Amino acid sequence: MASPYRELKEKAWHANQEIPRRGLAIYTFGNVSAFDAERGVVAIKPSGVAYDQLGVDDLVVLDLSGKVVEGNLRPSSDTATHLLLYRTWPGIGGIAHTHSTYATGWAQARLPIPLYGTTHADHLAEEVPCTAVMSDDAVERDYELETGKQILECFESREPLHTPMVLVAGHAPFTWGESAEKAVYNAAVLEEIAKMAFLTRTLDRAAAPLPASLVRKHFQRKHGKNAYYGQK
Ligand SMILES: [Zn+2]
Repeated sequence: MASPYRELKEKAWHANQEIPRRGLAIYTFGNVSAFDAERGVVAIKPSGVAYDQLGVDDLVVLDLSGKVVEGNLRPSSDTATHLLLYRTWPGIGGIAHTHSTYATGWAQARLPIPLYGTTHADHLAEEVPCTAVMSDDAVERDYELETGKQILECFESREPLHTPMVLVAGHAPFTWGESAEKAVYNAAVLEEIAKMAFLTRTLDRAAAPLPASLVRKHFQRKHGKNAYYGQK
């Protein structure tokens, strides 16, 4: 019998295939989920399955409380983080988690990524934020749920769709977007920004952030109601 979640699982499968294709993870590292807001279900990568072994029907479909509605494999160990973000942020259609090298380097240094140039400003108009380090108590509670809470705390005064990425201190990045495809795109953009910022700071430890006028110009020509970048 055809699965009622086939299309959602295919979206999640394609987005997961982008992770190794863009060089964002080795072996089984990383995971992407796709969210169907109408039906309130998420399709996510199963835990510990290599990308080249992953079939569409291996994807696990869960409701937002974490109850499996379809699939025989155990969902990604990071599922609770994904579900908390979907429950909290309307408009998010996909979430990606990688341990891509440069972004993870900044996360391990517990540093936000400074906004040094227009490549960065084309995608977000502020530093890439970094969460606080998790307390010992939180680690002992529900670790993956607490990771989600660290992210939400960091986003208390931020708009998630304007800043579609975060570094989890000591861990690695999470990115998101209106779709799973967009979430992985943002993961690849983040890695590129992280690499460029690393080079900038290496060349000049005192490198200045991009002036606010250039940040506004670059962000707004791609985003918002007066955007004019690309084709209509
Ligand atoms: Zn991780």
